[in-house]
Amino acid sequence: MKQLGIIENAAVLCLGGKIVSVGTAKEALRDPWMKKHRRSVTEIDCAGKVVLPGFVDSHTHPAFVSPRLVDFEKRIEGASYEQIAAAGGGIRSSLEAVRKAAKTALAAKILTALRAMAAHGTTTVEAKSGYGLTVESELKSLEAIRDAASRWPGTVVPTLLGAHVVPKEFQGCSQNYVEAVCKEMIPRAARRKLAQFVDVFCDKGAFTPQETERIFEAAAKHGLSVRAHMGQLSETLLAPFLRFNPASFDHMDYVNEDDIRQLAKSDTIATLVPGANYFLGLKEYPNARRLIDAGVPVALATDYNPGTSPTISMPMAMSLACTHMKMSPAEAVAAATINGAWALRVADRKGSIEPGKDADFAIFAVTDYREIPYWFGANHCTATIMNGALASRE
Ligand SMILES: [Zn+2]
Repeated sequence: MKQLGIIENAAVLCLGGKIVSVGTAKEALRDPWMKKHRRSVTEIDCAGKVVLPGFVDSHTHPAFVSPRLVDFEKRIEGASYEQIAAAGGGIRSSLEAVRKAAKTALAAKILTALRAMAAHGTTTVEAKSGYGLTVESELKSLEAIRDAASRWPGTVVPTLLGAHVVPKEFQGCSQNYVEAVCKEMIPRAARRKLAQFVDVFCDKGAFTPQETERIFEAAAKHGLSVRAHMGQLSETLLAPFLRFNPASFDHMDYVNEDDIRQLAKSDTIATLVPGANYFLGLKEYPNARRLIDAGVPVALATDYNPGTSPTISMPMAMSLACTHMKMSPAEAVAAATINGAWALRVADRKGSIEPGKDADFAIFAVTDYREIPYWFGANHCTATIMNGALASRE
């Protein structure tokens, strides 16, 4: 994570949305294909700028309607996450609007978020459902994600998060809701290819480890990979879940040494979302150093959602990682690009600038990559290239 492989005065040749070669500008000019086709090549001059692989935001919840401004004020007045949820705020308060929303309206909201993400350098986004929590509204959310993705030049990886929280009508009989997730949502989402992953919020006040295992079993049965929100509010033992080969455990504020050792030997990424800690005003952040130093691959994501992390900015997540989690700027870049790609199982085509991979880049008006997390709260991304398509902000 510390070695970025920086090339100065570099050039990248792309064709048909794919990277063909990477090297110095001199090498590119000597390339025989370039010599022959120079006139027909579109050149994007990045002199004096930094070009990174497009960010891979591997954890977002964009399928919602409204910001949660009451929660925001209540929290400032001192209410806790659990108190806000108990008072009818939190995740449950987003449900009604999503259940009522037309699919086109939801898709428009998601597309607006995707465009804002791209304007900040993100070219691949994982997008979860999870604010409907009925079979129909979860499928509608996934359809809205698909519709928005089809109108955006970047890449979207859809995730079914039917197990976000137990909705009010199932309180006291959560097993019936888990049954609906396993027997209806997962099979229908899988059959219609609306999701690549199934996610579970496994924590106190959400789903138990036993329920999480049942949901993972249903996902595996229907050919979907799994990931989970783990250790945000309390510690859950992770080892029992490794048999499902989860792509990622996300949050990880609470995790024990033994689980860290097991994770280091697994293919599971630890995805940290410091935007949530920042927005909740927490003093503690996930212990990134303990994970990285033990050999666990760490990814960074925004956790874009209306309740706990309303940011689309990967540079902001990187800045928080540097200042509050003691990750170096280089580690933050790796975590926001290639490790995010691993967390979505798309590292064969995303997350780094290598021949054969998709032509996904973010161009920044800075002369040193360390300025990206340094100038926090500012957006220095001037353009992104997504699957070969240029989206310029200038
Ligand atoms: Zn989340």
